[in-house]
Amino acid sequence: MYPLLSTDETTDLARWTEESQRELAAFASQHRAELDAANAAGRFPRDLYLEFGRRGYLAPFVPKEYGGLGGGIAEYAVIAEEVGRHGLVSGQIAAQGERWLLDWGTSEQKDEWLAAISSGEKIFSESISEKNAGSSFKTMKATATRAGSDWIINAQKTHVNMGADSDVTLVYAIAEEGLTSFLVDASLPGVERRQTDPVGLRLVPTADMSFIDVRIPASAILGEPGGGLQTFLSTFNVSRLGNASELIGLGRRAMAHAVEYAKQRIVGESVVTSFQGIQWMIADAWQALAAASLARDNAVLTYERTGSVALETSLAKRLAIDAAELASTSAYSIVGGHGLYFDQPYTAILNDIKVLKVAGGSSEILRNYIATRVLKHNALEGIA
Ligand SMILES: Cc1cc2nc3c(=O)[nH]c(=O)nc-3n(C[C@H](O)[C@H](O)[C@H](O)COP(=O)(O)OP(=O)(O)OC[C@H]3O[C@@H](n4cnc5c(N)ncnc54)[C@H](O)[C@@H]3O)c2cc1C
Repeated sequence: MYPLLSTDETTDLARWTEESQRELAAFASQHRAELDAANAAGRFPRDLYLEFGRRGYLAPFVPKEYGGLGGGIAEYAVIAEEVGRHGLVSGQIAAQGERWLLDWGTSEQKDEWLAAISSGEKIFSESISEKNAGSSFKTMKATATRAGSDWIINAQKTHVNMGADSDVTLVYAIAEEGLTSFLVDASLPGVERRQTDPVGLRLVPTADMSFIDVRIPASAILGEPGGGLQTFLSTFNVSRLGNASELIGLGRRAMAHAVEYAKQRIVGESVVTSFQGIQWMIADAWQALAAASLARDNAVLTYERTGSVALETSLAKRLAIDAAELASTSAYSIVGGHGLYFDQPYTAILNDIKVLKVAGGSSEILRNYIATRVLKHNALEGIA
């Protein structure tokens, strides 16, 4: 649902949204069995990902000259919500890579990677988290040291989505100048990976990545030495919107399945949806999803107007986490025992939501940020 983005149905965006919704629903239904099997196995469905890229869905805001859709953040949000809504393979990590390259990449870096990531031919991953450094960079151990005009990277990274399949990975490491980001060709000697087994987002499975004395040229630096925090924030302030949208889609998916089932389900002499207690659950979940959608759409419009969205995307993601959790747990109550089997979608949906609650900016860190912004102002209505 796009309450603010689709107010004027005659716009190109509204028409594109409608067409994309139809196309993505058809894509999901055509490949449902394959998507479900890959999800159960924790396998990255490379062919489907490539097809997704071929249709432009991996690169909503990438200019057409680099093989993208040439759209904006609104298109990014729409695709992400439909991905959650239909259980499709997520282009979120690719979009983050594209954001990094568009904001900070040299023309050589863009030429080397941007079109290939946009089309899905090359897989991007981000190697930021470590065993003892997730929410904070302060304990990061990865190092980047100069060796003549090259750099040597040593790092142990974890939780890296699509790490095992990636062609290029953005490594965050501590250089003499401080936190720095490097585009590392994953085929270089010294890069090793081991796929891991996350409970959710299993179509883009995680990996542990090890970088042992990996030699890279100075041209692999993204941004400036010591500029890692800036490169990190410019992408994550926007990509939270993709997370929020996927969460809204996941919540909608849980409710849609549950309501469809409950409308047919007779208990005693009543249809389940005739019980007021069940109706209230549906109302509460719908209300939470509608509020999250409004906040998400507002963040999109604010980004397009001002380019500054850290607070708006934090609000949108927090509301979306709460709404998606409410919708998916209510779905279990609405359908009863029928929902508590792995051949039903509810557990996969809930597990995807649990991952998105932590990854890409956890609920607690978002809460801290919102509080910091509130406390900077004397009057709450002055929050900007
Ligand atoms: C499936 C999955 C995919 C992921 N994908 C990637 C990826 O592709 N690349 C990558 O680099 N990382 C990835 N991550 C890692 C993710 O970004 C981290 O898990 C996240 O940043 C939290 O770090 P942590 O797990 O180390 O938790 P910790 O930092 O150990 O935190 C533990 C808990 O404390 C809370 N907490 C931390 N600080 C505070 C505070 N100041 N106040 C209140 N509460 C606090 C956290 O929110 C969390 O709930 C992924 C994680 C998962 C599970």
